[in-house]
Amino acid sequence: MTLAPQRAVPGSGADRAEPPVALYVHVPFCVARCPYCDFVVLPGAAARGPRNRVADYVDALLAELRLRAPASPVGLRSVYVGGGTPSLLPVADVMRLLDAVDAAFGIADGAEVTLEVNPGRDERGEPRAWREAGVTRLSFGAQSLDASELRALGRRHSPEDVLSAVTDARRAGITSISVDLLYDVPGQSAASWARTLDGALALDADHLSLYALTLDDAVGADHLPLRPGARRWRERARAGQDEDRAADQYALAEDRLAAAGYRHYEISNWARPGHASRHNLAYWWRLPHEAVGPGAHAFDGATRRWNDAAFEPWLAALAAGTLPPGGSEWIDDEAANAERLILGLRLAEGIPVPAAAAPGLAWGIDTGLLEAAGDRLRLTRRGRLLSNEVFARLL
Ligand code: SF4
Repeated sequence: MTLAPQRAVPGSGADRAEPPVALYVHVPFCVARCPYCDFVVLPGAAARGPRNRVADYVDALLAELRLRAPASPVGLRSVYVGGGTPSLLPVADVMRLLDAVDAAFGIADGAEVTLEVNPGRDERGEPRAWREAGVTRLSFGAQSLDASELRALGRRHSPEDVLSAVTDARRAGITSISVDLLYDVPGQSAASWARTLDGALALDADHLSLYALTLDDAVGADHLPLRPGARRWRERARAGQDEDRAADQYALAEDRLAAAGYRHYEISNWARPGHASRHNLAYWWRLPHEAVGPGAHAFDGATRRWNDAAFEPWLAALAAGTLPPGGSEWIDDEAANAERLILGLRLAEGIPVPAAAAPGLAWGIDTGLLEAAGDRLRLTRRGRLLSNEVFARLL
């Protein structure tokens, strides 16, 4: 078995490695690729139809789980099946996957088990069967509740599809539902954003993730190359974005969601009591997490590791009984401290007030982007809007 491409260098932090508390599983299939998407995605014929690669993928995934299994079960507190469009997976494969995760890592009683869902009628899957398989939480990629914005984003579903998909999930007994929305979308007005927010509140979701549309061109072996058509789409879309409008949209969301009883627990995430994403909290708290699937990223408390994005080499390595190609980076003390500050400040709880503030923190306090609250230091309302200005000074 070949471990070399991803093994942390002995003596450079491997001794600080800890067992994972969470597992990310990347499912790369989508019916079609959205032009703004930078995730590792295999669209079209690979996802379904006579030439689909789903069975090959699931076999390889189970092999990777076995290869990455710890010496003894760790009792994962969270499993997150993300993508891509995991809701395209046949129910039998979701069951096999979760059984294999339990066999390899152990899933703790009461663990959060999330599956991402696209709301389209032909891609939303079977929430009742997933619940019976052990899924506890569904995350819906709604993105907007405005039909013209969904079309502009290249999405296949309608606002009515979001409503019916969430309603079906509730009826199936899913007790934790998250909805993703995008703002700073070209053509989005203040009024259409307000309608989308109101529509999302009417869905009665337990958790909302709101992200500004980002149109950066990701690079590196853990990403797939950008197609020329998507690059042209992004150039046009960037011209339709507006920082001031985005700031107003964010402020409106903060006010409306607070009034509706959601806690703004992280810069881009709001939750009802008891529904904060345990999986994402593991990332923000820098807890060790394992990851499988093409392009997936893991962290063991000392080293960040990733699989390359390319599907065929990932598949071929696992079919041969070896770990897939990828890379790793040991996080030295300086980088770890910067990560702790940046990830901690993303959260509403902030960070403990340091005995000696780093220059970037002092700058944040002087400019009113950071404030002390008791023994904690956190972003102010303006600081949440300009968080990248603070974070850049902490690196
Ligand atoms: S559905 Fe989601 S993962 Fe798939 S291409 Fe669109 S944005 Fe990317």
